[in-house]
Amino acid sequence: MPFCEDCGKWFSEKHRHTCPSVWEVQKIDDDDYWVERRGYDEEEAAEAYAEYYNGDGAMLDHGQIEVRVRKPGSTDCKVFEVSAEIAVSYHIVEVDN
Ligand SMILES: [Zn+2]
Repeated sequence: MPFCEDCGKWFSEKHRHTCPSVWEVQKIDDDDYWVERRGYDEEEAAEAYAEYYNGDGAMLDHGQIEVRVRKPGSTDCKVFEVSAEIAVSYHIVEVDN
């Protein structure tokens, strides 16, 4: 599967790849700290921020965060509530009895 050096995403050879747009995302209580995340819309950028923020499990500890998302340099932004949950997966292996 090819990897795009520009946006850092893997993509299918069957579809033409277009890099997701760059957005600026800010956690609402970090007032002057904006980070750039990619997404095809604001919601995807908010999710990309959540993956980045939750890298150390911080969001799962705090339950929910609110983020602002804007086009770089714009004053218009959308606000999202973001939460995360852990999914349980089961692995079954037959053993000799
Ligand atoms: Zn790309």
